[in-house]
Amino acid sequence: MHNLVSSGTAAVTIALASAGIGAGDEVIIPTFTFVASFEAVLMLGAIPILVDIDDTLTLDPEAVKKAITPKTKAIMPVHMCGSMANLDALQSICKTHNLILIEDSSQATGATYKGKPLGSIGDLGCLSLDYVKIITCGEGGAVLTNNESYYKNADHFSDHGHDHVGNDRGAETHPFLGYNFRISELHAAVGLAQLRRLDEFVSIQKKNYTIIREALSTIPEVTFRTVPEGGEESYSFLSFFLPDLEIARKVSEAFRENGIDACFHYYDNNWHYIREWQHLKDLKTLYPLSAEIEEGLQYLKTKQFPQSDHYIGRNISCLIKLSWTEDEVKERARKMVRCINEELS
Ligand SMILES: *Cc1c(COP(=O)(O)O)cnc(C)c1O
Repeated sequence: MHNLVSSGTAAVTIALASAGIGAGDEVIIPTFTFVASFEAVLMLGAIPILVDIDDTLTLDPEAVKKAITPKTKAIMPVHMCGSMANLDALQSICKTHNLILIEDSSQATGATYKGKPLGSIGDLGCLSLDYVKIITCGEGGAVLTNNESYYKNADHFSDHGHDHVGNDRGAETHPFLGYNFRISELHAAVGLAQLRRLDEFVSIQKKNYTIIREALSTIPEVTFRTVPEGGEESYSFLSFFLPDLEIARKVSEAFRENGIDACFHYYDNNWHYIREWQHLKDLKTLYPLSAEIEEGLQYLKTKQFPQSDHYIGRNISCLIKLSWTEDEVKERARKMVRCINEELS
């Protein structure tokens, strides 16, 4: 079951609310994600607990275990850059500790785990259809769930709490408070047309990804992100590791100088990685925050994430585009190999 909504950020907010997560509850999220993850948690008065990633570039199950407290209500892996968290491991932690698993699959539409689409495996899943995502409708998102009551909650909550019973909208009642996170029919229509092309997009991405990956595989110092067993990427990014932070910085610079665009070294990036989220660490808001949040986020003033730094510092993730010709991809791959080899020698 799914609810189409106004954005991916709305989808995450609705998923959390539908599962009853709110004031003072702790939600485990990764240090490498998009700012939307903590925005959604904070909006409900809950506390984002940032936890280390591993070589999957997503939540490290061992670090998750250590972060669980009596206040923890949910674990929210974010399937960054077209691949996924170890969902079996996270699901088993959720079972043991009676926690809710919410997948943010905004960046991995089209990827699968053990034959199932990402976003359909946890208690709830979230997709984004914004203008940079794998399929897009301009702005939009979706909440996925197999749980009838979460589905109903999401349906009502995203439309002012209206119960959607009968044919007279004006006569609908409100079992609980909600907001307006509706998608428009115009946007939804574009989304449906894009959805029909998802398999085609993934197969083009796979072809382009494979050409570049095979070229980079000739360099012994380059290793690739781990995809959990049973997982298949959406091939929307190729993510690889270099030997250390310095080399990664130099390669990233060399890529830029040589016109290899759309490659990200997230270590110094303020959209996606904890190091540069100063506004979160300083709790800069337009309005007063609840005492629970102020207190609950104190840990961010001092906490270091050396394990996350170890992976993100050495990682470069390159977008795989649909519009490239085969010649362009091959030329790009050749240039990337040359840049990396020059920085390694
Ligand atoms: C894009 C994105 C979102 C939010 O999506 P919007 O539709 O832009 O609100 C949430 N999480 C992740 C990981 C994203 O990449």
